[in-house]
Amino acid sequence: SGNETSNGSSRHKQRPPHFVLVPLMAQGHMIPMVDLARLLADAGSTVTFITTPVNAARIRPVADRIRLSGLPITFVELRFPAAETGLPDGCESVDLITSADLFKPFFEALSLLADPLKLYLSELTPPPDCIIADSMNCWTASVARSLGLPRFIFHGPSCFFIFCSLMLRQHKSLAAVAGDLDPVVLPDLPQRIEMLKVQVVRWMDRPEWEKISQEVRAAEASAQGVVMNTFEELEPWCLERFRKTTGKTVWPIGPLSLYKEEVESKAARGKASSIDTELLLGWLKTKPADSVVLISFGSLSRNSLSQLVEIGRGLEEAAGVPFIWVVKETAAEAASWMEGFEERTKGRGLLIRGWAPQAVILAHPAVGGFMTHCGWNSTLEAVAAGVPMVTWPRFGDQFLNEKLVVEVLQIGVPVGARLPTLFVDEMSQEAQVKGEQVGEAVVRVMAGGMEGEEMRRRARGLGEKARRTMEEGGSSCENLKRMMEVADLQHHVHAAKIKI
Ligand code: UDP
Repeated sequence: SGNETSNGSSRHKQRPPHFVLVPLMAQGHMIPMVDLARLLADAGSTVTFITTPVNAARIRPVADRIRLSGLPITFVELRFPAAETGLPDGCESVDLITSADLFKPFFEALSLLADPLKLYLSELTPPPDCIIADSMNCWTASVARSLGLPRFIFHGPSCFFIFCSLMLRQHKSLAAVAGDLDPVVLPDLPQRIEMLKVQVVRWMDRPEWEKISQEVRAAEASAQGVVMNTFEELEPWCLERFRKTTGKTVWPIGPLSLYKEEVESKAARGKASSIDTELLLGWLKTKPADSVVLISFGSLSRNSLSQLVEIGRGLEEAAGVPFIWVVKETAAEAASWMEGFEERTKGRGLLIRGWAPQAVILAHPAVGGFMTHCGWNSTLEAVAAGVPMVTWPRFGDQFLNEKLVVEVLQIGVPVGARLPTLFVDEMSQEAQVKGEQVGEAVVRVMAGGMEGEEMRRRARGLGEKARRTMEEGGSSCENLKRMMEVADLQHHVHAAKIKI
């Protein structure tokens, strides 16, 4: 048709598509989105990155570097409508939520960004070509529709988690299990995996979240493609089944943490680091290869004082294993206990209070193990670095990620956490893990022996695959290119529809 012809001329334009990235305002979602923005810009795209003042301040160290390097990424700060939904001023990221009753207002406030975003994008010249929005930002569906833009969703978690959740819902598996502590076998997997009901129940499955949950699913169904931070070689079976079941075009383009950058820039991922990079690297240099265990529980999870004491006991028990422990607990009692512990383990242990340059630490040759809460970014960062894990899931997708690491990939040892604990709640006594468990798991991963060696070999192998997949000709690299092509094509299809 005439429309196609008139669009056809611009289809052959040389400029790769202009993407609008809309992250979920949470560290675990912002960090990979910033990496994605840089990958797209390196590949020639223009990127508009949507953020809010508090989040923009956090990523300023990286944003400043991006500006200096001349990469065509514009960070746009929209005012976060906290007051409108009764949130405290400045509560603009999930880790700043202090009680469970603020989750709903937080998501409502996010959805109020729809109008300002629409206004901003409608005034851009030339207009952007495609929106990539976090899967939780379902409100971007109407923005894309009204501007005639194609929209892809970005899934932060593992494909294993996404696929298993989908199957659990389709088979209504959880309704058939009576008690929270009763077992449930994950349906439709090629191997038998059993979990406790309470480990897989999602907060979004609760009745009061039904509306948002439905909107999220609808926004996924109507999206023109799905971008995932994983790679084909890591979850081949899951990706294939997910594609078949949903009929969606899926581009795994990770591990995004492998975005190539110099160390100071990597150290500032997410937030300015709390430790001097030189000091950190100097300390690591004194340790033998694969000897250090990193202990960190992500941006959200916190430990009670008694849990900190147990972790400390476990580390003292695993005598001889050097460690870096990232501590975010700031209560006075916790801080004073930490001081004594630090004194007792001087030389062997390094405490980082606040924000650690995690990707830098994991990539260092001295680091040979990672005690993690199994957040997907942390898990994938360990995979990318070829480092075996001690798994200690807390909530959300983390228990399923643990199963992927321990039972499917076999590159980790579980610490033995049974009950979920949400970061806004006080950690219950029953959810706690004993010092002996911590010590034993650390020794199993670090001390070698047949089991340890095998695990390390598998982890290394995956690490190599991860690095290759991001290089020219690798699957993630090719997927990114395909995704850019489809964005370009879809943009013209949409533009043509609007003209008709
Ligand atoms: N992270 C970091 N330093 C910290 C804590 C976290 O760099 O002190 C990064 C970590 O490398 C990962 C992200 O923050 O990229 C956390 O995401 P994840 O999905 O692992 O867990 P969440 O924080 O969402 O629970």
